Amino acid sequence: MTTWVCTKCGFEVKAEQQPALCPFCYAPTHHMIPKKETEPADEDAKKD
Ligand SMILES: [Zn+2]
Repeated sequence: MTTWVCTKCGFEVKAEQQPALCPFCYAPTHHMIPKKETEPADEDAKKD
């Protein structure tokens, strides 16, 4: 199961496949992006 996030309104949808549109604001499918389950710590920022 993937959590999809609408880049337009921030609405989250859990679905196997990318939703055809945002059920909240009806943004087109390209606004629905997979939400990262594990967010990396600031490793890039710690590079010296
Ligand atoms: Zn939306």
